[in-house]
Amino acid sequence: MDRLKRLVRQELQALTPYHVPPAEGFIKLDAMENPYPLPQEMRAAWLERLKGIPLNRYPDPEARALKARLRRFAGLDGRFGMVLGNGSDEILQMLCLAIPQGVLAPEPSFSMYPLIAAMVGVPYHGVPLKEDFSLDVPAMIEAMAARKPGIVFIASPNNPTGNAFPLEAIEAILEQSPGIVVVDEAYLPFGGESALELLPRHPHLLILRTLSKLGLAGLRLGWIMGHLPWMEVLDKVRLPYNINSLTQASAAFALEHQDVFAAQIAAIKRERARLSQALSALGFEVYPSAANFILFRAPGEGEAVFERLRAHKVLVRCLHGSHPLLADCLRVTVGLPEENDAFLKALRRG
Ligand SMILES: *Cc1c(COP(=O)(O)O)cnc(C)c1O
Repeated sequence: MDRLKRLVRQELQALTPYHVPPAEGFIKLDAMENPYPLPQEMRAAWLERLKGIPLNRYPDPEARALKARLRRFAGLDGRFGMVLGNGSDEILQMLCLAIPQGVLAPEPSFSMYPLIAAMVGVPYHGVPLKEDFSLDVPAMIEAMAARKPGIVFIASPNNPTGNAFPLEAIEAILEQSPGIVVVDEAYLPFGGESALELLPRHPHLLILRTLSKLGLAGLRLGWIMGHLPWMEVLDKVRLPYNINSLTQASAAFALEHQDVFAAQIAAIKRERARLSQALSALGFEVYPSAANFILFRAPGEGEAVFERLRAHKVLVRCLHGSHPLLADCLRVTVGLPEENDAFLKALRRG
């Protein structure tokens, strides 16, 4: 143990690793997964595709075929570049490895921003959102001037609050930022406006996306888009075969069936509206959502409601204690209609 204490970076010794609670036997509404599996006939075609993959060979290090499809999917024009990651989490890590001057992000936001900064050994600073969870643009500008962060992360729609930020607010931050601004659009399929249209006039803007929330969390595929010099830098910190053959083929296959995912997303958005209404009717404070989850507050009894749900085998995320703005807040992922019914029933039973 002496050796460990002597060798391992101090801040790493103090770090609590990302914890995923065991979910066996639970209705799992805590991780923003798309609840719909691939339709049966699509599974057969997918497996057929995978059959032909030579597992003895390394994958295409550039994932050219998949990238071409993703470019079309995202509507990215030839002036800009794209780098793929083993989930967008890996791209966050690549960014911190390449640009070590410090990370700044609004709070509450995605818990991986401070975690990955700490993991890589990069300073992190959080700037509180306003009470309605909108961006505090003057506070962000002031903090950027004081701390000169190399990277600003802005998730829009934001996790865990669910709201999307207006492009004007993002652009105001871009204009004053001393480093790069990464807009994390993991939840874009469910709402909000993409910052992609800002790319031509902002050379230090990068846009991060993922297939995880769309319905392919198990594949681990994220990508970032931006001006070519930044993409070349990220390629230098990317491990050569970071996207495995099965993921490359499966993601390309999925992008040939966008209609299936579009239908699932439409169903999730309908359920989101129904759940929001039902939660309001039960007397909770419900925040508007542009994502596939809903943030709600149970004043004075957030933890009790969480425990009650757990007793009924429904797993949501309890955010109480994670940030002062989230006192008594819970986050529920929109599930299948019957899962959402079970969640509402558990709430009503008390
Ligand atoms: C879920 C989530 C991601 C996705 O991470 P992957 O590594 O691509 O699965 C990225 N950003 C935010 C804000 C998220 O909530």
